[in-house]
Amino acid sequence: MTSTLQRSLLFVLAVTSVSLVTAQAPPAGSGVNWEQLRSETLQHYRSLIRLDTTSGHETLAVDYLKKVLEAEGIQTKVFAQDPKRANLVARLKGNGSKRPLLILAHTDVVGVQKEKWPVDPFGAVMKDGYVWGRGSKDDKPVLTANLMTMLLLKRSGVPLDRDVIFLAESGEEADPDGVGINFMVREHFGEIDAEFAMTEGGGADIQDGRVTRVNIGTAEKVPARVRLVATGTAGHGSVPRLDNPLIHLGAAVEKVGTWQTPMRLNETTRTYFQKLSEVSAPPRAAVYKALLDAKSVDAAQKFLREHSPAEYSMLRTSVVPTMLKAGVGANVIPSEAEATIDIRALPDENVQAFYAEMAKVIGDPAVKIEPVPQTRPASPASRLGSEMYQAMERAAKSIYPGATVIPSMSTGASDMAQLRAKGIQSYGIGPASTEADSLNYPAHGDVERLAESSLYPFAQYVWSVVIEVAGHK
Ligand SMILES: [Zn+2]
Repeated sequence: MTSTLQRSLLFVLAVTSVSLVTAQAPPAGSGVNWEQLRSETLQHYRSLIRLDTTSGHETLAVDYLKKVLEAEGIQTKVFAQDPKRANLVARLKGNGSKRPLLILAHTDVVGVQKEKWPVDPFGAVMKDGYVWGRGSKDDKPVLTANLMTMLLLKRSGVPLDRDVIFLAESGEEADPDGVGINFMVREHFGEIDAEFAMTEGGGADIQDGRVTRVNIGTAEKVPARVRLVATGTAGHGSVPRLDNPLIHLGAAVEKVGTWQTPMRLNETTRTYFQKLSEVSAPPRAAVYKALLDAKSVDAAQKFLREHSPAEYSMLRTSVVPTMLKAGVGANVIPSEAEATIDIRALPDENVQAFYAEMAKVIGDPAVKIEPVPQTRPASPASRLGSEMYQAMERAAKSIYPGATVIPSMSTGASDMAQLRAKGIQSYGIGPASTEADSLNYPAHGDVERLAESSLYPFAQYVWSVVIEVAGHK
């Protein structure tokens, strides 16, 4: 680490928050009013929550960010396929010795049912140590932390080896017209092309008032949905027919829905279960250990299937029937019946070969598999050994002392898919939350909130990673 970087890290420690959660002491002799920075962080965060950026209104956030960034001399560019749903890019130049780092966050939020909220969902109300509001978890903490990082980089004048690119993107939550990441990747990829990216898709767990676990999202499953379509002869409901498509479809749905697809671990999931086997409480630790042992793997899978379906899904390409459509009348045999099957493939799955395998499991020529057009590309997992991952691990350990850092694979899909598909190693982050809060006040939930004390260390984490990866060495 050069002295420049050391100085900037001192600056970081001086200016960013000391977490109530981790109860670290602030370093002595900082000379920078970090209290002031803390209130600035909170002020941007609350201002962004107060903008009702329900999908379709993202330009409100772009206007705000543009003003804040440009007031500090950071140039911005706005790219809009739809003028109400703009994207904003800002770039701080490095010396070009390394490829850029992209920090991105989406500006849109999902809708609200006002009557379910105890407070104004766009009021950013502060109550009981929380900031309440739509977007308080998803995704305005990341947006705020990224914004603060840009402001601090500019103010400190830290020399950079990499360009740091800030992207505020629209349409992550709802984007039928492709105005967000798809538009940026398709039309303006040069503006956001980078070696590494960091955005939502990870998180951290608080237990007994302390952050015990930090998740770095390194991979996600690939949606590979299909329809099963059974055909037969239409007829009268009083006359049983062997080719009744409902019977064929029903059998096919039963077969694929109970099919235990092959288990396959990748670098992320192997490390995930390995680490959990080391840090979990005894009964669960044994399950994770058993999962990694050929002799006991079957029993461990059975346990997870019953008790931890999300982890069971991480082991394999999952096949889940979600919709059925058939019939026009109680006394009519229809000529067609169809089921929608939500398939979430492992990142390295050969999807065509998987469909062929599924056809064998169904074993019925009357049932055809029809792939549904996918909205996200297949995306390879990002590496655990990269400079970026290692920097994230170090930053997490210093900001959340004693926490275990674990890579994770999401069973859902995110905008990192488009970036990973373009070769950008992309990593997911998120502020810390208790289990109760994650359950009762989740992203997209009826009511969303974030502990104020989680915001500041999170902003510090983002800044620390950026300075480590992009700062001049
Ligand atoms: Zn989100």
